[in-house]
Amino acid sequence: MSSETGTNFDHKIHQLVERHRSEIGDKSRYRRLRLILGDQLNEKHSWFKTVDPDTVYVIAELRQETDYVRHHVQKVCAFFAAMEDLAERLSSQGHRVIHLTLDDTAPYIDLPEIIETLSNKLQVAEFGYQRPDEFRLLEQLRSTHIENVQIVECDTEHFILPFETLDKEFKPKTHVKMEFFYRRMRKRFAVLMDGDQPIGGQWNYDASNRNKFNAKDLNQIPQPLCFSNDISPILKRIEKHQLDTIGMVGQKLLWPINSFQAESLLAFFCEYLLPFFGQYQDAMTENSASAWSLYHSRLSFALNAKIITPMRVIDRALEAWGNNPQGISIEQIEGFVRQILGWREYVRGMYWVNMPDYAEKNFFEAERSLPSFYWTGNTKMNCLKQSVGQSLEYAYAHHIQRLMVTGNFALLTGIDPKEVDEWYLGIYIDAIEWVELPNTRGMSQFADGGLVATKPYISSGSYINKMSDYCKTCHYKVKLKTEDNACPFNSLYWHFIDKHIDTLSQNQRMSMMVNSWRKMPEEKQHALLSKASELLNTIEEL
Ligand code: FAD
Ligand code: SF4
Repeated sequence: MSSETGTNFDHKIHQLVERHRSEIGDKSRYRRLRLILGDQLNEKHSWFKTVDPDTVYVIAELRQETDYVRHHVQKVCAFFAAMEDLAERLSSQGHRVIHLTLDDTAPYIDLPEIIETLSNKLQVAEFGYQRPDEFRLLEQLRSTHIENVQIVECDTEHFILPFETLDKEFKPKTHVKMEFFYRRMRKRFAVLMDGDQPIGGQWNYDASNRNKFNAKDLNQIPQPLCFSNDISPILKRIEKHQLDTIGMVGQKLLWPINSFQAESLLAFFCEYLLPFFGQYQDAMTENSASAWSLYHSRLSFALNAKIITPMRVIDRALEAWGNNPQGISIEQIEGFVRQILGWREYVRGMYWVNMPDYAEKNFFEAERSLPSFYWTGNTKMNCLKQSVGQSLEYAYAHHIQRLMVTGNFALLTGIDPKEVDEWYLGIYIDAIEWVELPNTRGMSQFADGGLVATKPYISSGSYINKMSDYCKTCHYKVKLKTEDNACPFNSLYWHFIDKHIDTLSQNQRMSMMVNSWRKMPEEKQHALLSKASELLNTIEEL
């Protein structure tokens, strides 16, 4: 701790101690201190069922959390605003809560030092925390020891699959097929089931969920529901403490910061977006005022900050489907349930059984630096310009933009997965390591060698052209391969196949493309490879 410890911090503690003395008696002390991390904002946690005047809850803005990666400014604001909102709500319910801002915590080295200071000042006998979902924080809290203070760890009561049973579903260094995991989850939690059979007769309707927008559809996409949370005090703190952030923000934050707003967003989704969710799940466009969010729920921040539980989201969507089976088809509801009951729970399991080694995986030994246009959106490639541009503006891009545009380009060009991770972890409003890492290293970069994905998610420009209207206005021509203005994805795609042919030829799902490459006339191969080399040498100018 530095010598200028915040007096505001001392004042907050003093107030709490005085309150306790006046309520409980002169010599008394608080019995328990409990930590609420920024992504543990579950107001319905059993901790809060009863008001205990002997328990103090601490919610703290921390430099260790704002600085471990460069975050989008909206992400910092969203977490800080939601933390403050919960602190106020719990206080108004009678709980003793100490909300520490950056002004209070900046002088301390890290979280353990703050906890120790608080424990000593409040003279507690017990310190409790909810098990963090991030390996880094779990290690830090499990190695915290405070003299004469008993440390108690408990569950966040958020996920569907109990933490203790993860190792029954997932084994370290072992591929687990998401589809079969998802089916087990459907059966186990009786979601969309008719006895032991899937409702509708099929487990998965992914094949019918691959529509592109046509001009008529574009006019019908609803404007997204955005909130207007005042974040001006937070922005002042960000400036005062000189936090290094990325992206843009106004004075108001559009993301939900409490359970009321999350419920409104969920209700809006169920009414206006769920009827088309699956159908347009993979589509991309630049020609709509709602182009950045389309039919996606944008619930990921509220879910990952634990403002709302995954089961609540599923139940509410099932209720909407039950009330309106004509308007919401089985394809739409199944597609949505699969994301939450399937993918979200799946990546969490893969993360925990494979950490900490997972964070070091680099199967293709990629080592190029991330091009600077990932931080600015200044590129002639329209798909990247749109996807990066909206990420900077909203801290959001939907799954296919993340996987098949920014992720695809990074994989094809051999970007170091560490840099790719840092970008995804920083820029997205919902990025927390347990969910970001398996999606980026695993699904998008195949850096885990196939623990998550069954094949590398790569494509030429034709896939992007099939699912979007980006190519129409692009400087590059999607149908061209080796000309000056040829779409870079085309030659880079074949360059990737050629470079990793030994590995890819062992993957059955890649065999068709590997064979196509092998059968291609040598002259054509040569032209593609030399075009790709030229692009890689001038990557910053693309
Ligand atoms: P919707 O499309 O409305 O989907 C509903 C919900 O399903 C989401 O809110 C999310 O909770 C869940 N979901 C969907 N797909 C996934 C998935 N693959 N993994 C986990 N949950 C999923 N998601 C994050 O929450 N945090 C991340 O840091 C993150 N990083 C990603 C990085 C890459 C490279 C890729 C390809 C995907 C990443 N995803 C991440 C998954 C997905 O892109 C986001 O969950 C989704 O875009 C969030 O927007 P939404 O709430 O509108 O989702
Ligand atoms: Fe992207 Fe190529 Fe289409 Fe341009 S032509 S938008 S670079 S896929």
